[in-house]
Amino acid sequence: MNDSLYSLADIAPTISRILSIPMVVPDGNVINELEDYAIEHDCKRVVLIIADSLGFALYRRFEDIMPAADSLARHGLLLECSSVDRHTSPCIASILTGYLPESHHVHSTQDIYRVRAKDPASPKIKTILEWADDAGLNSAVVIESEGAETFRGRINELHGIPNTDDIADYDKRATGSAIGALGKDPDLLAVHLRSIDRYAHCSLHGRELEEALRNTDANISRIVECAGKGTLFLICGDHTIHGWEKWKPKAADEEIRNHEKNIVALIAGCK
Ligand SMILES: [Zn+2]
Repeated sequence: MNDSLYSLADIAPTISRILSIPMVVPDGNVINELEDYAIEHDCKRVVLIIADSLGFALYRRFEDIMPAADSLARHGLLLECSSVDRHTSPCIASILTGYLPESHHVHSTQDIYRVRAKDPASPKIKTILEWADDAGLNSAVVIESEGAETFRGRINELHGIPNTDDIADYDKRATGSAIGALGKDPDLLAVHLRSIDRYAHCSLHGRELEEALRNTDANISRIVECAGKGTLFLICGDHTIHGWEKWKPKAADEEIRNHEKNIVALIAGCK
């Protein structure tokens, strides 16, 4: 499987192919088995859920307490996907643009404005949501407020979720907004859930991390329930968990390898 390891930068070009959205060819490649799966299941729209810090080994360790994700994976695909950085902003930029960090130069939300100021037409920071909007499709995004503002005037539906210390409440609000956005039947919806990342900073192998995984899965389940037939769900991590020092002494060899290679889970399933 390692020989054919995919990259987070492959997600945007794959969505482009599945939904026939024209885009300038980025760094990433189309994931053929994902395209084949979408064709086989006649998928008409895509819901992309970025589950912060959902590493591949972390998912495998806890898949039995994530029934919604597990059900999608068992009937669909579970792929190993190589991350592009250890921090959230550059990873999400790669997921949404299809470019590697050395191409998009986005390391924080502010960088999006800086790079755009240099070259307003640069395709390297243009997200698949914007390419979809250009093609006359409806796209929607649900992310933290500051990030959502970068989409203002560029896509129809943007939902900014204010940052808060209560991360379970944050994800609950993001899920509520995602469900609201689904009511308008978007062709492409992207949502960022953050519980796992926040709890990984505080506690590993503890009840809190498991709670965050269960909570994330419950939110995925609510989103899946509210989407129409013919929806392709893509669930991916952005990087492996932070707080690695606490994890390492208890980690299996495979988990250590996974962390060093920064491999995240990419789950694809159709409803
Ligand atoms: Zn992250």
